[in-house]
Amino acid sequence: MKKIRTRIAPSPTGSPHIGTAYIALLNFCFARTNNGKVILRLEDTDRLRSKRKFEKKILESLDWLGLKWDEGPDIGGKFGPYRQSERNEIYKKYVEKLINSGKVFKCYRTSKELEKLRKCKFDKALKEKDLQLDYKELKFRKKYKWPYVIRLKVPNKGVCVFNDVLRGKIKMNWSQVDSQILIKSDGTPTYHLANVVDDYLMGISNVIRGEEWINSTPKHKLIYEYLGWKFPEVCHLPLLRNTDRSKLSKRKQNNSLEYYRKMGYLPQTIRNYLGSIAGIKNSIKENFSIEDINVDLQSISLGGPIFDLDKLTWLNGIYIRSMEDKTLIKVMYEWAKDYIYKIFPSIKPRIKILTDIIPFSEHLFSGLPNLKTEDFKVISLKTTLQIKVLKVLWLQLEYIEKWEKVTILYKVKQLSNHFKIKMKTIMAPIFIAINGRLISTSVIETLGIIGKDITRIRLEQAINILGGITLEQEKKIIKEYYKKICK
Ligand code: GLU
Repeated sequence: MKKIRTRIAPSPTGSPHIGTAYIALLNFCFARTNNGKVILRLEDTDRLRSKRKFEKKILESLDWLGLKWDEGPDIGGKFGPYRQSERNEIYKKYVEKLINSGKVFKCYRTSKELEKLRKCKFDKALKEKDLQLDYKELKFRKKYKWPYVIRLKVPNKGVCVFNDVLRGKIKMNWSQVDSQILIKSDGTPTYHLANVVDDYLMGISNVIRGEEWINSTPKHKLIYEYLGWKFPEVCHLPLLRNTDRSKLSKRKQNNSLEYYRKMGYLPQTIRNYLGSIAGIKNSIKENFSIEDINVDLQSISLGGPIFDLDKLTWLNGIYIRSMEDKTLIKVMYEWAKDYIYKIFPSIKPRIKILTDIIPFSEHLFSGLPNLKTEDFKVISLKTTLQIKVLKVLWLQLEYIEKWEKVTILYKVKQLSNHFKIKMKTIMAPIFIAINGRLISTSVIETLGIIGKDITRIRLEQAINILGGITLEQEKKIIKEYYKKICK
């Protein structure tokens, strides 16, 4: 019988998303149903955006969810290393093969030229013949060692056909497929090359991934063919959707696994809820364990599973209430422990007796403060300006790399310069939005403790309570903001 090996292959370029958990869960369930193995591979070919801190978060979050991989960068395995940046020598060997068999070509085009070419092609795929330089120019660029990339030769005509477990035969015209870059000008591989080589060398029998990769599959299949390898079974899962059927985006909502953990969702709720919306029949039981479930990929509906936060919260409540007291106390303690360590330095200087801890720390623990429109009425700034302040604050905080008090304070000072409003005045709506009241511990400290995700939902809540903003207004604020900072 065929040995089943699946993989989860996250790119460590951001905090792990609920979508990462969904794809990972199905890979695990499928492997376990078939007595197979799951490999965790870090796809860090984007050297600029990949970060060790995100790797750590991915591993921690998946572990928190109860997914235990059989091979991976932390535990090793026969097919390692499991981090792509450590496999460059391996990829070189296969590129050599492709060069020798004439399946790839060097491309010396500059990015400006490529941009122009794309415009001329009206967004049609770029092929080898479009990218060719005349003989003299090519000789010149070679002689003076211009940077080049290595691209895949893709047929100009014909149809690529591949089978998808969920969708059956998928056909794509080769005329629409670009001559994909396999090796970048710095000599490192792109995702496409590394992904195919690793799937093959790691013995992956079933590639189970999100449907956003369907368009890449013809290129991947071609690399398999050129290298004389057998193409694995592929299954592209429909992406998670919001209740209004829009795609669950990374930016629009708080969908990082860390956020759910911080808010007090249980790992089994996330696991079981994701399992149930994916169509895994026995996942909704409280004691659903990945080890004893049955998943048939073909039975997954193509409609796009709906991720309904209200249902998730309802299910979490059921699980919490059905827990044995002893277990729940342990869970509560573990959850609170993380916070207590963080809030300790901020409350210690303020308390005299232990019961003071509660009023001083409530806003540090809770998800959303209990706010009403009247709470903002005491502030001397107009409501529309308060909304703008809170929106621009988020624009400034969103891309902070190191979420630390000093950086946050610096950003708030910039905010005061941006609006030409004194620090004390501009801080007022922030205090209410974040701390829930004007008199409280330092709001900068709170921001540092609650983290980015919870900051975002508190700011969003405050903006909505103040009357909200339309998409148009939001766009205008963003435009004005960038205009000013770009001056
Ligand atoms: N590194 C890709 C991602 O993070 C994985 C794509 C795949 O599974 O082939 O989405």
